[in-house]
Amino acid sequence: MHTETSQSFIMRFTKKDILKLEEHITKANKITVITHYNPDGDALGSSVALYHYLKTLNKDCLCLIPNPYPSNLEFVLEDTDFIIAEKSFKNAKQRLLQTDLLFLVDMNNNSRCGDNLEKVLNELSCTKILIDHHLKPDAFALNFSYPESSATCEVLYNILKRLTKRKVFSEKISKALYLGLITDTGSLSYSNDNPEIYSIISNLLKSGLKASKLHQKIFDTYSVSRLRLLGYAISHKMKVFSKERAAFISLSKEELKRYNYQTGDLEGVVNYSLKLAGVDFCALLSERDDKIRMSFRSKDPSIDVNLFARKFWNGGGHVMASGGKSYEKLSEVERKLTAQIKNKSFLNND
Ligand code: 5GP
Ligand code: MN
Repeated sequence: MHTETSQSFIMRFTKKDILKLEEHITKANKITVITHYNPDGDALGSSVALYHYLKTLNKDCLCLIPNPYPSNLEFVLEDTDFIIAEKSFKNAKQRLLQTDLLFLVDMNNNSRCGDNLEKVLNELSCTKILIDHHLKPDAFALNFSYPESSATCEVLYNILKRLTKRKVFSEKISKALYLGLITDTGSLSYSNDNPEIYSIISNLLKSGLKASKLHQKIFDTYSVSRLRLLGYAISHKMKVFSKERAAFISLSKEELKRYNYQTGDLEGVVNYSLKLAGVDFCALLSERDDKIRMSFRSKDPSIDVNLFARKFWNGGGHVMASGGKSYEKLSEVERKLTAQIKNKSFLNND
């Protein structure tokens, strides 16, 4: 994801934190890795990489995924034990209640797992450890929170390097870490200023993974209807506010249905409005069964969309990429966002 600084950044862990982490892992047998609702490449990649590392220690490990993931990311879950909580909530809850140690990855607080899991997590007494790169994390037994980093997979790479005293990992772990790093940086096109990430990528490639094949698996898997939905969104639904240097795309449930919307089909659509030379702030609104999902992007670090999402849209994320939600009607959300664009609320000047 986008980061707030363009300076090179070297992640430093204290020896104490790594020792504590080792202690918690050694003591635990049943370990669960949980990530955020609507999991993306970084969420699944960091979950799976941590899973395979814990398996090398013979732990009883399981990944808990709140709801279904995009089908193009299926490949990373091969050979991984996981439960999709929305499909078998009873099993997910039972697993959590039996868990000795819970890792929360690519999420900054319990609410990011969705309402049902949040309630269970709030009551859970086991040790919880956070590995993440989102702003404003809640405090857990241990927090490996580095909002300056490009992806949770970058944070995890550095943790695994310290734990294993190696720089090159198995192909399975490397593939999962690569997925997170590549998707959260738009194939290294943003959040890409830190030279460290290129040496991490270099070490991941040394595992033998084939980067070009992986890219095809991740990115060249559109259905005809998905590509046509993108075309329709840009040609018919993009509103541009030239004076305010802003744009948004809004898609109703009916429009998504018309284009046979499948989970993940809107991934990346928000970024297209930022391709316009005169646009620094953009949004994507999509009407879902119970709410309006919102994504915000900025290409100017002084436009803090994390703050904007927190303040107005019940969300958060990063300075240059964030998300939020509304339970109002789509037309009302469009009206409010238009007013916010016209009065430049996204500039956070107040
Ligand atoms: P996306 O627009 O791709 O769904 O999300 C962009 C970034 O904002 C991601 O890092 C995501 O984790 C974060 N994000 C998306 N929706 C929410 C939300 O409702 N709350 C918070 N805190 N973060 C969100
Ligand atoms: Mn991430």
